[in-house]
Amino acid sequence: MSKKLLEKIFSVKNDKDRKHKVVNMLGTKIKFKKLNIKEKIDYFKIMNDKSLYVGIPDDITLQLCFNDNCNCNCKFCAADIVKDYNQRSIMPDKWLYEDFLPLYPKTNHIVPTYGEITVCKEGYDYLSFINKNYPQINISIETNGISFTNKWIDLATENLMRVHFSINAINEEYFKKTVWEQDGIYPKIINNLDNYIKKLDEKGLGAFRPCVSMVLNNTNYETMLDFIKMSLNKQLQIIVLFFDTGLCLTEENKKKINDCFITLLELERILKDKVYLNFRLFVPINNVKELEEIANRASIEDLKQKYSDILKITENFKTLKDLFYERTEIRNKFEKKPYTYYEELTGVCYHQVIGDKYSICSNANNHIRLYPNGNYSVCPWRTYDNNIKEFQKNNKIDWISFFNSYYYRKLRKNFKKFCYEGCMINCPAAEKISEKNFNKKYSI
Ligand code: SF4
Ligand code: SF4
Repeated sequence: MSKKLLEKIFSVKNDKDRKHKVVNMLGTKIKFKKLNIKEKIDYFKIMNDKSLYVGIPDDITLQLCFNDNCNCNCKFCAADIVKDYNQRSIMPDKWLYEDFLPLYPKTNHIVPTYGEITVCKEGYDYLSFINKNYPQINISIETNGISFTNKWIDLATENLMRVHFSINAINEEYFKKTVWEQDGIYPKIINNLDNYIKKLDEKGLGAFRPCVSMVLNNTNYETMLDFIKMSLNKQLQIIVLFFDTGLCLTEENKKKINDCFITLLELERILKDKVYLNFRLFVPINNVKELEEIANRASIEDLKQKYSDILKITENFKTLKDLFYERTEIRNKFEKKPYTYYEELTGVCYHQVIGDKYSICSNANNHIRLYPNGNYSVCPWRTYDNNIKEFQKNNKIDWISFFNSYYYRKLRKNFKKFCYEGCMINCPAAEKISEKNFNKKYSI
């Protein structure tokens, strides 16, 4: 066999930066960092620390970047989306229907994300397979709503899916300004959302109304309150607001962000029992504390006056805790795996558990965010430095080695010490809350 051919099959070389070894196996390249003595000792200690071993953990979240194409064209989209349907990557069938089988009995959540799950037949087929064979698993999907038509409405209703609609606008005019200048898209989304709510109500499952989100930027920040009112009028009690980082580039914009943020903090004070406003993700500012102080200056009575129209809409709402009880009761009847109250409110991309007296992010225990090319991370907000193919042995994935790799163990160890190096700045899951306050906030 010629040397060149042999290199194509297997080779180990230094990388250009000479800090890594690159192993090439049948065209799959895996990069290993060269370790110095200190790192070798650290590696040895971590790999031999029994407290960091979890076997195949319980309560797994499989966050699958299912496919990389989308039927929308959002101006703020930061994802690497392919527009040619034939060129897209899709999660390999072998992983979904064979390799993941040992994980499903231990999986609490499946979260297909990245790209639009509703536009591909494979997405629908896969979630129908999970619904049929593993009905106990909770499924959470994010959708732009354009293709959330009857077959999805039926599947989501039957499965008690947690659905997140990215709406971003109060009407078509703003949709075109902020999202996509295409006629007729916004009414389609709202129509699908309304049909879904109607179907849930018909089935007595109104408690499973979806959550909605809005990306806030220069084109729509002044409509934020109207967006919240529109959502509340549909009795949607979980609303997510994302600040588009483009909004905070100039001093003038900084004032707009501050104003929006103060409004949200004020609303949070008067609505917190009935509406969960999730706006602390990707906060592109470092003066949150200062703004909290400003928002805390007004008396509750003054805020009630200021937002009397919003309070009027929510006056007959169930409390979030009652909503959680109702969902839990229904989930139990459907024999679903339980959600914590924290997960109910915040979604399933990040999780907190009580560690040694304080809360810690638990993603390093049991969360996989995986791309179709095999790159993975413990969460969407960290880099993807590893590939699942490293754990393929005899045509199967060695899950014990995977979950107990140096990568997972090191993060487990760091998080236990509240070290979140490499994590998203201001990540809510990294917040160190005492056991007492955590229970006060999230236990019932
Ligand atoms: S819906 Fe999401 S993935 Fe699709 S274009 Fe918009 S931001 Fe990108
Ligand atoms: S703390 Fe880190 S791992 Fe946990 S959710 Fe935040 S960014 Fe992800």
